[in-house]
Amino acid sequence: MSNDTTFKALVVEETSDGEFKKSIQERKVSDLPENDLLIEVHYSSLNFKDAMSATGNKRITKQYPHTPGIDAAGVVVSDKSGTFSAGQEVLVFGYDLGMDTAGGLGQIISIPADWAIECPKSLTLKEAMIYGTGGLTAALSVQKLEKMGAKPSDGPVAVTGASGGVGSISIAILSQLGYEVIAFSGKTEQSDYLKDLGASEVRHRDTINEIGSKPIGRELWANAIDTLGGDYLANLLKQTKAGGAVTSCGLAGGAEFSMTVMPFITRAVSLLGVDSVYIPLADKEAIWQRVATDMKLPNLENYGEEITLEQTPEYLDRFMASQTVGRYVVNVRG
Ligand code: NDP
Repeated sequence: MSNDTTFKALVVEETSDGEFKKSIQERKVSDLPENDLLIEVHYSSLNFKDAMSATGNKRITKQYPHTPGIDAAGVVVSDKSGTFSAGQEVLVFGYDLGMDTAGGLGQIISIPADWAIECPKSLTLKEAMIYGTGGLTAALSVQKLEKMGAKPSDGPVAVTGASGGVGSISIAILSQLGYEVIAFSGKTEQSDYLKDLGASEVRHRDTINEIGSKPIGRELWANAIDTLGGDYLANLLKQTKAGGAVTSCGLAGGAEFSMTVMPFITRAVSLLGVDSVYIPLADKEAIWQRVATDMKLPNLENYGEEITLEQTPEYLDRFMASQTVGRYVVNVRG
């Protein structure tokens, strides 16, 4: 492959009036940053962060034109570091991919070799992208609860943003591991879908906030996985059983929250942060081994809708309008 080799990519450009325009364009390998590892991308996936990057969120992406895509699964073209050999199947999640480094929504990426891991043998590239960062974050969240001693017999686990990427895979993994799950969603019309994933009960997300400004409430769930932040996170903590824990990975419902310390000091409830982006590569490899074994979901194809690169502009807009359900896997070469 030469520097003049062309490939297709989603490109987001900032217009002179401050708008952000998305289109599929032809790029050259020479447009990519100089790095050791060159990968032919076969599949990527869509995440909330890609939608933020595609709409010009400068906390995610500072430089435009830009190709989003925080996930990539593909085949090694060349690796100057000697870590991988040509033809090897690899996965890339997070670090700077898709933020200020051209991402997986392009058919070729150029990245440092220490951002990639070998694709586990029991997963195809497509299956790995059905999980993607959303699934990886779900798996890390469940693992964090387990490390705090959570077990199915403790009682139900609440999951917020239930119809989203992290939420839907969290429900499925928890259910597979034997937990009872209460799914909180703004889309109660998706109740059947959420129950098919493994939720035993579906409630509207607004019901979490009915507790209002009370410092602490009834103990309604043993543990929780939160993707929303804001008041939802505060009010989940206030209604968690003594000794339980709540993981926090997202801010789809707000970045700030206000509460008292009462759930922490009277019920020993724990607040656990989850990051899937900058954790060490060894931790990413370890969680992937679980995703490929005891957390592997049966009939994986059911958890993700396959779309083409050409469809990504439309689907990224749907993310910002909260009109997406589950995971979206992008067939970048389809
Ligand atoms: P999705 O867009 O797929 O899901 C988010 C869900 O949140 C929606 O489906 C909707 O679920 C709910 N939601 C959306 N907007 C609002 C709103 N304004 N108020 C309340 N609820 C809302 O996103 P992901 O699952 O990919 O990501 C979820 C969050 O986790 C994001 O904030 C993302 O940035 C973060 N994240 C963090 C990671 C980390 O490493 N820390 C990694 C991956 C994601 P419903 O309608 O069912 O309520």
